[in-house]
Amino acid sequence: MTAVEETGNESAVLQEYRRALRTWLEKHAPGPVAGLSGEEYLRTAREFQAALHDAGYAGITWPREMGGQGLGQAEQQVFADEAAAYDLPLYPFMIGMGMCGPTVVDLGTAEQQRRYLPPLLRGEEIWCQLFSEPGAGSDVASLQTRAVRDGDRWVVNGQKVWTTNAQFADFGALLARTDPDRPKHAGLTMFVVDMHAPGVTVRPLKDMSGRAPFNEVYFDDVEIPAQDVLGEIGGGWAAAVTMLGHERVSIGGRQRARSNPLEFASLAELARRTGAGRDPVRRDRLAELYAHERALELLNVRMRQEAAAGRSPGARGSVAKLAGALQARRAIEVAGEIAGADAVAWDPGDERAAELALAINSAPASSIAGGTNEIQRSIIGERILGLPKEPQVDRDVPFRDLAVGTRRREGDR
Ligand SMILES: Cc1cc2nc3c(=O)[nH]c(=O)nc-3n(C[C@H](O)[C@H](O)[C@H](O)COP(=O)(O)OP(=O)(O)OC[C@H]3O[C@@H](n4cnc5c(N)ncnc54)[C@H](O)[C@@H]3O)c2cc1C
Repeated sequence: MTAVEETGNESAVLQEYRRALRTWLEKHAPGPVAGLSGEEYLRTAREFQAALHDAGYAGITWPREMGGQGLGQAEQQVFADEAAAYDLPLYPFMIGMGMCGPTVVDLGTAEQQRRYLPPLLRGEEIWCQLFSEPGAGSDVASLQTRAVRDGDRWVVNGQKVWTTNAQFADFGALLARTDPDRPKHAGLTMFVVDMHAPGVTVRPLKDMSGRAPFNEVYFDDVEIPAQDVLGEIGGGWAAAVTMLGHERVSIGGRQRARSNPLEFASLAELARRTGAGRDPVRRDRLAELYAHERALELLNVRMRQEAAAGRSPGARGSVAKLAGALQARRAIEVAGEIAGADAVAWDPGDERAAELALAINSAPASSIAGGTNEIQRSIIGERILGLPKEPQVDRDVPFRDLAVGTRRREGDR
């Protein structure tokens, strides 16, 4: 039983939606995907996304005229609840469906919506988000990748980093500086960039789990047609804020798969197996983990219900994002205490231990990706608790006059 069902708030219509979805998933969810090779995984993911689309479960909240289902956050929540019971291969479409697509829905021209949304919904095209740079992560507006207008095209030069899924992306939402004479937030523009265009180079970066989920991306004289500006020229910051709003909801609201080795249920099972559950201190830690997990689930339910009622979570999305990252840290500690040496070394072929170690090594990234814990705390402090704002000495200064980053200013060459 899910948290929403338990609150007893579900209408008959939603109950019926849940029942139909549950039946569909029982029949169509693919088997375990963890052991699949990269290509097999991608093929399975594309087929499943296409099946979701055909069954009417892709783009649940997107407008019908753009290929979505025209439903609300409540149905989206039901999907997240039910999907969590399976290990669904949704990861390759996470950024496209959760962030880029909704931004094209909000800001795209009719032509862009016709071109980009249907193949995304059907799993034919994959997207990535090209914001972060070596000198611009938390302070995204300091980015230095430049786009210069040349007739009916833009020419882009620069470097991005930590670009999740760029290795198989067809398109990216690119934030670039188009006017260095304006203050840093005002001189940015968002583009749709073809990741197969000449001059785009993608290089994998390994994280500490040994996998390479993200990349460096280089742009060398990459041409972007003028009609591929997303939103307004110079309106890149507003477009980025729109996308980051979708990102926070999609990260904060995501339900973990029930099979996640760092969930309470998995760790409690591990404790039973290893005998650690007999130790009162470990039991206490597990109980604490459970309490936080339930609180986080209910926080997410509340935000979804508010969204369904037309109230945007706004800065409170940061509360869910931060709480999720802190919970991941807590779960890593408890997992280490229960698994002991098995958390770092295991016999060949012991899939369960290997999965636990992978989860332990991957979880800390949640306190960085999508805005670090410190940045979420600043947002909560300033926008929810009303604390004084951080000083911003660069607010009204033309970007050209700021001493940021690692490159020379144009005039100094
Ligand atoms: C798994 C993962 C996936 C990612 N995927 C993408 C992606 O697809 N596309 C993309 O564009 N980016 C992506 N990123 C990048 C991510 O958005 C940045 O790593 C993040 O915004 C932090 O930026 P940074 O790494 O430059 O750290 P910095 O901004 O340099 O921060 C370094 C440290 O200083 C702290 N700090 C910085 N400024 C302040 C401040 N004002 N107050 C207090 N503390 C501060 C930070 O909290 C942090 O602890 C991804 C990152 C990860 C880990």
